[in-house]
Amino acid sequence: MQSGISSMAYLVASALFILSLRGLSHPATARRGNLYGVSGMAIAIVTTLWVAGGAALPVVLALMVIGVVAGAVLARRVEMTQMPQLVAALHSFVGLAAVLVAIASYLSPLAAPGGAAESIHDVEIYLGVFIGAVTFTGSIVAFLKLQGVVGGKPLMLPMRHTLNLVGVFACIALGYLFLTANDPGAGIGPLLTMTAIAALLGVHLVMAIGGADMPVVVSMLNSYSGWAAAATGFMLGNDLLIVTGALVGSSGAILSYIMCRAMNRSFLSVILGGFGTTAASTAMAIEGEVLPVSVDEVGSLLKDASQVIIVPGYGMAVAQAQAAISEITRKLRDKGVKVRFGIHPVAGRLPGHMNVLLAEAKVPYDIVLEMDEINEDFSDTDVVLVIGANDIVNPAALEDPGSPIAGMPVLEVWKARTVIVSKRSMASGYAGVDNPLFYKENTRMLFGDAKSSVDALLAQLSA
Ligand code: NDP
Repeated sequence: MQSGISSMAYLVASALFILSLRGLSHPATARRGNLYGVSGMAIAIVTTLWVAGGAALPVVLALMVIGVVAGAVLARRVEMTQMPQLVAALHSFVGLAAVLVAIASYLSPLAAPGGAAESIHDVEIYLGVFIGAVTFTGSIVAFLKLQGVVGGKPLMLPMRHTLNLVGVFACIALGYLFLTANDPGAGIGPLLTMTAIAALLGVHLVMAIGGADMPVVVSMLNSYSGWAAAATGFMLGNDLLIVTGALVGSSGAILSYIMCRAMNRSFLSVILGGFGTTAASTAMAIEGEVLPVSVDEVGSLLKDASQVIIVPGYGMAVAQAQAAISEITRKLRDKGVKVRFGIHPVAGRLPGHMNVLLAEAKVPYDIVLEMDEINEDFSDTDVVLVIGANDIVNPAALEDPGSPIAGMPVLEVWKARTVIVSKRSMASGYAGVDNPLFYKENTRMLFGDAKSSVDALLAQLSA
């Protein structure tokens, strides 16, 4: 009776998770998608508590209270710009949980099913630990890179691919020893040794990825964390965890694939830790002069323009300039200027980062266009306003084969009549690459914090 009801509840929760993913695919339905997700999770938690019941309940409840308090404090404190780090840190928890559950499941005599099922259970444990350990340490390195504690430059150890291969083969050999160990608990040696090797692999794979490819790594680790959760679901015989893990694993893999395509990177090369990236890059020397511009001049340019494209980047998120930009957009549209937004797939520090901020600032969805939809239109544009973006508008990606971001498609803003770049200094962006855009004849630099610049511009347009 209890298992019938819990299976039904898990089925409902799974359906809600699928509806949630569907809802999250568009900003207009994202809020509803979130509600589906929250409802599904509530059903899942209540059912799991009910199934666990008995003696385990007080322990689970106590742990949940700690988790809820920690989660609530984090959610209140974390800025929108720190979300990627938070996501990476949360992925590391999933990886660690998979490792711990698998090891506990191996050591616990209660969990051993016996017979042929035992071998399957052991394979699940081994895979769960492997994926979990790679996810755990890989996500920690991703967290440190996104937090700026570890530099964005790829670590290019000599013979790094051979090292990775040796690591993978060692894990396969240890797997054989683990699965053929006869006495109960005798496989713990190979299991723990493999855990250490997989942990090192996770560190090495992510350390080898350069700055601009980090978005793909974050979504890939998201996918790994899903598979780790699915493996845990198999170990614990929990259908909901299997379904949820598979949903996260496959949607993360699809997102990684889409991002790789958008970045013109090979999916395989990123999974294999920057396969094909060259150790030394020889960037071309930049020529030209930096031409600063005042707010008044930008205001006049905008008033005289008939076509304007705004390209937001990470700096807009840091400065929290989106509301003022939305207001400027409204003012210009009221004056009959055609204003649109160009969004690069890896703008900011999170997939969809800019879309979320612009939606929050009530910019109409129909004027927010993807890179592919707008890249052709820059040559017919009077003014492009680049707000706190850098790597995503760097012409070196197309013009300089020696650049670390060579081959990555970018928004070709320099084709417009005038480009205004709002940023605080000449500092480089996330990938640490100089930007020739700032030295082009038709570029003007509006130096200062994006929020202050945009506020001043708004005042000027309102005058
Ligand atoms: P960038 O990091 O290339 O550039 C942001 C620019 O914003 C900086 O050059 C900085 O210049 C400027 N800036 C910072 N603060 C402010 C401020 N308060 N006011 C005005 N300007 C400011 O950002 P992009 O969005 O162009 O590119 C995203 C980069 O991040 C890519 O390399 C991408 O690969 C990477 N990335 C993306 C992820 C994603 O999922 N979207 C995840 C992880 C990495 P200055 O200091 O002079 O002001």
